[in-house]
Amino acid sequence: MYCSYCGKEVNENQKHCVYCGTENEHYVENKNEEVITNTELQKNTVQENKDNVSSVYAILALIFGALGGWLGLLFGIIGLKNYTDTNKRTMCYIGIGLWAVWMIIMILE
Ligand SMILES: [Zn+2]
Repeated sequence: MYCSYCGKEVNENQKHCVYCGTENEHYVENKNEEVITNTELQKNTVQENKDNVSSVYAILALIFGALGGWLGLLFGIIGLKNYTDTNKRTMCYIGIGLWAVWMIIMILE
């Protein structure tokens, strides 16, 4: 962007034109806001990565639950303790549910 008075190039975070001193009409006051947003985004990304890594518990809960193993229950509980994500919690509940179904079948036999 360019100074409205002298036409020289000015940066949006410079309050005054460095060449003629005219107030920069493109000046952006709240540069900090953008920085905060970026930090928030990074935090969210880190949180997502953490969740992606630990989604292994939900998957294991489902697999072992489907196979009727105690590990289905174990991973389901570990998952429920660690996850805040609804989808992953649901997977854990299903894993535990499958394990419970298997236990009922075993008892009935
Ligand atoms: Zn100027």
